[in-house]
Amino acid sequence: MTTSVHQLDDGAWISVNDRRVMPVSDLWQLRDHEFCECEVADVLAEGFVEVGTDRLNVEARIAGQCIVCGSDGVTGWLQMGTVDPETGQFRPVVPESVHRPHPVTR
Ligand SMILES: [Zn+2]
Repeated sequence: MTTSVHQLDDGAWISVNDRRVMPVSDLWQLRDHEFCECEVADVLAEGFVEVGTDRLNVEARIAGQCIVCGSDGVTGWLQMGTVDPETGQFRPVVPESVHRPHPVTR
């Protein structure tokens, strides 16, 4: 089945298969990232800039600010969750864990 992924309300929400599944308001800890100089960035998310799918993964790039050093910008692609291939149900990642963004190459 095809998964349809959108951002809504100027990037405040991700919707998967026409259901709002994830709000943007979270801190995202990033490791191995290009967002700023911090070894682990603590990015206060302000909005989803781009959303997409990679097979069953739902990914997004987030605009925000690192609360450690104050840099702002847009993250690489972060996994937001996965979609169950049979039911279309979205299973979110844990925002409080440490994430490794993919570099933006596509
Ligand atoms: Zn930083």
